[in-house]
Amino acid sequence: MKLPTDSGWYETKKVDTDITWIYEPAINPFFRCNIWHIKGRDRDLLIDSGSGLFSLRASVDSLSERPVTAVASHAHFDHIGCHHEFDHCLAHPAELPVLLEPSARETLADRYATAEMFDRLPPGGFDASQYHIEPTAADRVKPLEAGARLDTGNRSFEVLHLPGHSPGSIALWDERNGVLFSGDAIYDGELLADNHHSDIGEYIDSMRRLQELPVNQVHGGHFDSFGRDVYQQIIREFLDTYDR
Ligand SMILES: [Zn+2]
Ligand SMILES: [Zn+2]
Repeated sequence: MKLPTDSGWYETKKVDTDITWIYEPAINPFFRCNIWHIKGRDRDLLIDSGSGLFSLRASVDSLSERPVTAVASHAHFDHIGCHHEFDHCLAHPAELPVLLEPSARETLADRYATAEMFDRLPPGGFDASQYHIEPTAADRVKPLEAGARLDTGNRSFEVLHLPGHSPGSIALWDERNGVLFSGDAIYDGELLADNHHSDIGEYIDSMRRLQELPVNQVHGGHFDSFGRDVYQQIIREFLDTYDR
């Protein structure tokens, strides 16, 4: 099914010469996924695609100008709503089946996709019983393994597998610039370790690995971006809470 277009649904902000932050301002910050568009000389990357209420590709001009590879940091509904609009999608093997068959349980839509997630309801209102994520066609999705590299021509990212929040959560690590796109593994807000497919032991291991990264800047799956000090503080607080 084709999603309706609404150019007013999304807002965009340039945060670096090649990085644009796209978000859905009507959605409450706790539920509002950060969508990252990284332009490259050779190819563009999109990290996550929002809630899928309105066409991302047709509503944001910069996403229809050039071919875009759409990466899923993981397969929760707030991150994969518009992946089906893109010809080339990448997800960790543990989350890839959810893009093909996005059930309300595996995407967590059954738990979180309610009218509560809006500060301002979408045009036409919101009916939770009708809400669903469109499946991505199997020939559009390829697995993205830990350790793989993604190059835009200007930046090179290593794929970090960071299970815990969900089994196939990944981050993209630009080691040369110390920039981390972290999905829901780490962001500056309440981290969720109690989903039905969360694993706290794995989450602790992922945080210990993150602690060793020489990070300068983090662009997370939710809330504002942050620097090294906040990054280390979030990790310490997480480990103090869970690693007893
Ligand atoms: Zn999530
Ligand atoms: Zn999320």
